[in-house]
Amino acid sequence: MAGFKEWDYSSQGPSTWGDRFPMAAGSRQSPVNIETENAQSDHEALLSKPLRWKYPANASRKLVNPGYCWRIDTDGEGTFLTGGPLMDDIYKLEQYHCHWGCSDSRGSEHTVDGQAFAGELHLVHWNTSKYKTFAEAAKAPDGLAVLGVFLKVGKPHEEMDKIARLLPYVSYKDDCIDITEPIDPSKLLPEDKGYWTYLGSLTTPPCNESVTWILFKQDIEVSHHQLNIFRNLRKFSRGEDCPCHENHGVVINNFRPPLPLGNRVLRECGSF
Ligand SMILES: [Zn+2]
Repeated sequence: MAGFKEWDYSSQGPSTWGDRFPMAAGSRQSPVNIETENAQSDHEALLSKPLRWKYPANASRKLVNPGYCWRIDTDGEGTFLTGGPLMDDIYKLEQYHCHWGCSDSRGSEHTVDGQAFAGELHLVHWNTSKYKTFAEAAKAPDGLAVLGVFLKVGKPHEEMDKIARLLPYVSYKDDCIDITEPIDPSKLLPEDKGYWTYLGSLTTPPCNESVTWILFKQDIEVSHHQLNIFRNLRKFSRGEDCPCHENHGVVINNFRPPLPLGNRVLRECGSF
């Protein structure tokens, strides 16, 4: 059906995802509000295996506009994430993407003590120690690991600028270009590697409850101008009429509001 959308971020959006995607109504959903006071200090357990990663800069292959964010697909080659809550399992980087608001005061999915950030970057990994494909891992409770980085408005970010400069080439939904200049996702991580971790889900339908979340406590700075370039992406395809009544057809406020942590444990590791 032309123009039919399975899900969106409109005001009636996220609260109705569960009607079509039953997992979205589960009790292990993301994002959540991080109540810093309630985080269990788990330095010893988590530090016994420090979190480690490697991302060769040429692993970032394609920049895609799926109509609800920008996303960089990797070939996974030579990438890994291991340690911390992931213990000895080796996870590979599949893709990274971003969430943002219509203004600088909102845009993150997770909130910290009720406070939203201007954006949130997600590096999505899958467990290659236990599963054969991303699709298989996405169905398993320990299949995926996502690193989350909060974006705050400040000075321009050099590595983010490489992405921002390419975005005009994927203005429309389903646009995709090859990445030729290396982009190193480890340069998008904050200096301080302290983090919070909990068990949750993908934040877009079907919202599989398969994610070990690792959220860095320290944010990174990006400029207002860089965020404005994100806000220029269109959520409709070339040749399709602009759904101009919906935010003028641009991708903004592509974040799911926080859901209850319930009886899940929030652990923290590292400084701050
Ligand atoms: Zn995300």
